[in-house]
Formats: sequence, C-alpha cells, structure tokens
Amino acid sequence: MKAFILCFGLILMHIGQAAPRLVSSIYPLQQIAEAISGEPVGLIADSPLSVHTYRLTPKDARQIAEADIVIWVGEVLMPQLNKYIARRQDKGLITVAKLPKIKLLAADRQPNQHEQDNHGHNNHLQKENAEHHHSHEHFSYDPHLWLSTDNAAVIAEAISEALIAADAPNTPRYQANLAAFKAELTALHEDLISQFESAPPPPYFVFHDAYAYFEQEFGLSHQGLVRTHAGQSPKARQIVNLKKQLTAAQQACLFKEPQFRSPIINKLSDNTTVKVATLDPIGYRQPGDGYAMILRRLANALSNCRQTQ
Ligand SMILES: [Zn+2]
Repeated sequence: MKAFILCFGLILMHIGQAAPRLVSSIYPLQQIAEAISGEPVGLIADSPLSVHTYRLTPKDARQIAEADIVIWVGEVLMPQLNKYIARRQDKGLITVAKLPKIKLLAADRQPNQHEQDNHGHNNHLQKENAEHHHSHEHFSYDPHLWLSTDNAAVIAEAISEALIAADAPNTPRYQANLAAFKAELTALHEDLISQFESAPPPPYFVFHDAYAYFEQEFGLSHQGLVRTHAGQSPKARQIVNLKKQLTAAQQACLFKEPQFRSPIINKLSDNTTVKVATLDPIGYRQPGDGYAMILRRLANALSNCRQTQ
C-alpha cells in the first residue's frame, strides 16, 4: 500500500509539475514569498521568540536542505543559519542583504551615540550602496531590512525570478502575483504616509533598534532605545540615562516587543507619564496575515500610542 501511494505521488508530480518548495528564515519573508508563489511557504524561525537568538531544530535543518529555494536576510540577522545555508552551495538561495537593488542602512550600534543623541536619530544612518557592502564581507548593516516597502518590492522581484527559473510553465501566475503585490505595496506606502500626517506618533522610545528602515521611509525617529544590542541587557548607566529621558519626556510612549521578556519596561515606566505599548518588528502570526499587515500594525501602534488623559 505504501509503495502504491509513493508511486502514485511520483506520477502526480510528473503530470502537474510540483510547485517549487520554498522556505524562508523569518515570518515577513514568508509572507512576501506566499504572496508571490500563491502556495504555503516553510518558515524556519517558527516561534514567538526573537529571531536574533532563535535556535534551529532538526526540522529546520531538514527544511533548509530539502527546499528548492531558501530565502533569508543574511548572516547579520541569523548567523545561526550559516552552516546549513553553506551546505546548499548557493543552489536555490536568495540572500536578501546581497540583492543588488536592496537598500541597506548602516548599523548604528555605538553604545554612546544613543545616550548623547536626543535629536534626529536618522542622522547616523547612511545609505550604503550595494557594491560597498559586497566588497566588505563584515560591513555591519542594520539587518531589519524588511520594514521598507522598497525593499519588500526588491525581495518580491527576486522571489518571482527564482520561481520562474524553477517553474517556467507558471511564469504568468508568478508575474501576475508580483504585479498585485507591488500594487499593494504602493497603496500601503501612500496609506501610511497619510496616516502619519494626520496622526503623527508622540515622542517614542523603542525596545531595540529594529525600526530604522520604517522610520526612514515615513520620516519618523525614536527618542531612545532600551537595548542598543538586541541580545544584550542595558547597563545600569544606560538605564539611569533612559529613565531620565523618560521622566523629562512629555506624553511619550515606550514600546516593548513581544519577542523579549522585559521586566525592565516596568522599572523604566514607573513614576513617569510614559505610556507603555507594543511594537512587533516581525509581526509573527498576528491575525490578518500578509506582509502589509506587519507594517500597518506598526503604524497603528505608533499612531495610537497617545495619552488618553
Ligand atoms: Zn532585531
């Protein structure tokens, strides 16, 4: 019986060519890939925990080995994927940070800069061109690159090209899906521009520096960070500084993230007028799936974080 099912499966695969198996490293890339392929896409960091510290399971390793196309940001975001990706020897691989048209922002991880800098955080961010990045293997870019609609379009194009290369008979379908997704991105960009015009966020502090792409696209900037490195707790001196800023800030907002346990948030917000809310840079498994919803939820959290009293 087993043999029969196996044979039957193989026959079916040959009749209608099976869709390429895609696997993505993180939820936002999975959402983009599903929009282009029209099929379910595998997810490696399938967990509500931080992708920075996510630990691979044997199932993840198998998915990476068996997929026709693997989509990941690159080693800055998830170095723990390196050895599994290397085994594929560039076969069916989309490394988003290396796509020629992707926009990369420099990582701004000098611990002292944030403490001295209460104004125009974006001043530190420089556009780095792709050549520059390619020639410096260890150029430290900000890896949260999916939070830009321009980058989402570049990622979608790369996925569409890879799908067409692997499954040429379905070219019209992939092209139509790409066109629809790009139209959705254009609408998303315009909607959020007008949303922030009518409801600009109050002064806000974020948990970790994950939002530079989003902030640059929509002309926003945070006042401070709880963690300068995603995996590192702030030092006592940083906490004191931040508490001072939060106490001085009027009608400010302090964002925690669902990926991090953050008892420190209470300590920081106690005896201040700060309102605490949640921002989720990954948007993991929220209702209302789709890439656009990840950005819309970020925008709503920012716009809606106003003091009610
Ligand atoms: Zn992060």
